[in-house]
Order: sequence, then C-alpha cells, then structure tokens
Amino acid sequence: MTTDAATEHRSEHTGGHRWTTRAVHAGKDDLAALGLHAPPIDLSTTYPSHDVAGEAGRLDSFAEGHDDGGPPVYGRVANPTVRRFETALAELEGAEAAVAFASGMAALSACLLAQVAAGTPHVVGVRPLYGSTDHLLSSGLLGTSVTWAEPGEVADAITDRTGLVVVESPANPTLGEVDLRALAQECGEVPLLADNTFATPVLQRPVTLGASLVLHSATKYLGGHGDVMGGVVACDEATARALRQVRFLTGAMLHPIAGYELLRGLATLPVRVRAASATAAELARRLADHPRVTRVHYPRVGGAMVSFETSADPVALVSAVRLLTPAVSLGSVDSLVQHPASLTHRIMDEVSRKDAGISPDLVRLSVGLEDVEDLWADLARALDQAGS
Ligand SMILES: *Cc1c(COP(=O)(O)O)cnc(C)c1O
Repeated sequence: MTTDAATEHRSEHTGGHRWTTRAVHAGKDDLAALGLHAPPIDLSTTYPSHDVAGEAGRLDSFAEGHDDGGPPVYGRVANPTVRRFETALAELEGAEAAVAFASGMAALSACLLAQVAAGTPHVVGVRPLYGSTDHLLSSGLLGTSVTWAEPGEVADAITDRTGLVVVESPANPTLGEVDLRALAQECGEVPLLADNTFATPVLQRPVTLGASLVLHSATKYLGGHGDVMGGVVACDEATARALRQVRFLTGAMLHPIAGYELLRGLATLPVRVRAASATAAELARRLADHPRVTRVHYPRVGGAMVSFETSADPVALVSAVRLLTPAVSLGSVDSLVQHPASLTHRIMDEVSRKDAGISPDLVRLSVGLEDVEDLWADLARALDQAGS
C-alpha cells in the first residue's frame, strides 16, 4: 500500500476525516467535552469503590479480558491513559481493538502465551525476523515450537497444532518484503501476525491485507523520540480479550506515562515517517553509487530504514560516524547506525543469520529528521575512512 492509499482512507466512525487527521485526533475525541486540551495522565494504581459486589463483578469481567472503559479496579488491569493510545492505534491500523504492553517483546510474549493457553503451541515463522523475536521462537522459552518456512511453503508447514504464523515486512535488518496478502491466504484459518514496526500504519496497514494481528515495537516510530518503551498489538476484540487476560496475569502493562507519550507520538507519526522516508530514499540512491557500497536494500513500500553491504570494514564504518549515532534501536528523530551481525542479530547463531540473509558486511541505518546533506557528508566520510 502506498502512502497515498493510507492517506485516502476515511474513517467511517468520525465524520469521514482523512487518515492523517485521525492520527492527530484519534483517542482524544472526548477531550473538548471534558474541558481539556491535552489528554490527562492517570497514574492511579487503585480505584476506590464502596460497591464491593459491583467491584467484584467488574474484576471478574476484566479477568476474562473484557474492558468496558470503566474504572479499572487496579492499575495492572487497564488504565485510562493507556486506553486512549490503544483506541487511537486500533483506529489507525484499521483494527477493532488494540492491547498495549510494556515493550514490543512483552507484546509478542503475550501473543505466544495466549496461543499456548489455547492448546495450539506451534508457530510457523517466516525469516528474517527481529533478532530477539527469532531467538524467542527458536528457544521455545514460552512453550512454543517453531517451523521456519519461506513464503509459499507456509501452508505445508501448518499443522493442527499451529496457532500463529509470524512475519515481518519489511524485515529487520535486510528490509526484505513479503507479499502479506498472499501470505495471509496461505495461512487459511491460522492467524497471521505481522510485525509492522518498520512500515508503520502510515505506509502499510496489514489488517487490510488479511493479517489478524499487527504487532509494533512502539519504542520505535510510534514513540519516535527514543525516550519511551512500549509494545502494542492491534487485532479483533476476541483476540484482544485473550491478550488482556495474559497482560493482567503476567503484569506486562504499559506505564500510563508511556501511554501518554505514545499517544502524543501518533499525532506526528505521518509527518515524521514521510519526511524521514524521503531522506532515506535519497540516501539509498547516493549509497548505490558509492564505490565502497556493494549492495543497497531499500523496500518498495518506502520507510526510514536503509541497509547496505560494504566492502569497507563495517565495524570501522560504524565507529567513524560523527553526526549519526552508533546505536541499536531505530525510529527516532535522530539517525542511528549499527552493524547487525555484531549487535542486534548477534544472538542468532551464524547459520541462522546466513539463512536469514544477514551478511557480515551489512550495515543498518535508521534515518531521522536531519538534513540529508549533513547525513550524506557524515556517511561518505565514514565510508572513506573505513575503506582505507
Ligand atoms: C525493537 C523491535 C521489536 C522488539 O520491541 P521492544 O520494544 O524492543 O521490546 C520487535 N520487532 C521489531 C521489528 C523491532 O524493531
């Protein structure tokens, strides 16, 4: 899906406003009636009530994964500020509901635990995936087992114990793309979980392509400033109930201040993603012409991530930058660079890395909002320095 297609999407629920308008207003529609402009942050860990029987009933309902929007009884169950972020993200992904977690990995863990609880612990994974996702699935730490499959082989890998197919597109760090619509067809009745961290709903809305669960490391573009950790899953209400049950019992709730920051981040998400994508596309073009760059990976869907293989020493290159920051993570207003084989994908063994197409020469850029000329000057200088 192109940016324009996402922009053109009109919400049926909100007077037909366009997607970018909803990115600013979603989760805040009640504020003016409350006499507020900024969303309130509710830091309560408990909620008073003199109606003990009523409170008990409400707690039972929450324990079954319902969330009626009323007082949450206890801070681990739900939170009004976090709910605003959930409501907004669900709307922007075109999903019925969303459930927010303390991190992207907490969100993924909840999906896996819900699946184990449902008696379908087998996962089909499509590589490459985020390094820790790959490791969590490979290790079977949460009681799942995994079969790795290429797109096109997924239907054959599915058994009657398969509860989830996991894919990332564009994928980390190769930026390889999978046809999500075709993959969703292959999955049949088995839910497809698409990690949409890299594309964000600005560039791609996997629910519209047939995915059942859309996962984000909200730590990245949704927050967008490198100062908040969070995760979120957009899905249908039945799945959301299962995820809320897990969140309640495992304590992986998103903090309300993080919920506030993530909601604030959504308002600028379209502007940030489009501006950084334009810079990233230009850097990809210039890198392709650089003598020390052997291959550039930039996804068709666009986005602010670029990776490239270099004949220079990739570790020396990452150390030589001055404006870019050598660091893991991505999706911030400032640009970051890292060497996946040494850092983010170090946890995978060498054979798995090779299978996933992660070359030792690969360098990954997360492009921020700096001027393209300053970024290029820094990169070109670091490439020259690392190649000599
Ligand atoms: C960072 C990341 C995750 C994990 O999210 P955390 O917030 O770090 O737990 C999952 N998937 C992708 C694609 C990521 O970039």
